[in-house]
Amino acid sequence: MSVTASSVENILKKVRPRYTAKGMVDLGTPEDTLIATLLSARTRDEQVLKVYPGLRKQFPRIQDLAEASVPDIARCISSIGLYRNKAKAIQALARMLVEEFDGRVPQTMDELIRLPGVGRKTASCVLWYGFGIPAMAVDTHVFRIVHRLGWAKGKNAEQVEQELMKLIPRRWWGEVNRIFVQFGRDVCRPGKPQCWRCPVAALCPFQPKTKV
Ligand code: SF4
Repeated sequence: MSVTASSVENILKKVRPRYTAKGMVDLGTPEDTLIATLLSARTRDEQVLKVYPGLRKQFPRIQDLAEASVPDIARCISSIGLYRNKAKAIQALARMLVEEFDGRVPQTMDELIRLPGVGRKTASCVLWYGFGIPAMAVDTHVFRIVHRLGWAKGKNAEQVEQELMKLIPRRWWGEVNRIFVQFGRDVCRPGKPQCWRCPVAALCPFQPKTKV
């Protein structure tokens, strides 16, 4: 089964209608998306969304976070994992945004990944959800599913990101993460995928397909 832009698009078109929820870190503004994505490392999105409003109520402007102490930030997010490290990262991030970017979130991958604690996945989420700029966010779900589908062979997220950007039409880049995060939690799960109820089982080379 050869993998082409049109075979990939065919699969995405079959999967997308089942997963219509918006991205969990799609909070509307680049700043909110950036901070929420940082908080979401090794933490369930629901937990992030619980603490996020309180954090921004206490520190509404990026300048407020830059001037806040790490313990004060940590207190607002203490119910999530790694909260002390995340508080440090948020303070450092806010300071750099104020000092180098006039308090605004930059709009390029190269600038975004210079920010402390920001990797390519977070930067891609900010570009797409925050600015509407197509970018390929490769997280653990995307990485696993595209390997099973035979779309990529890369050993790390950056290699896979490059492969996918060559293969997948640009108009899908931003959507791939949103669709596959939901598909990966529901059907193409870590460990054992649920191939028997997969809408693209006939198009997927993964073997052996799991049965009920
Ligand atoms: S057939 Fe199985 S491995 Fe392939 S995409 Fe569907 S659930 Fe994942």
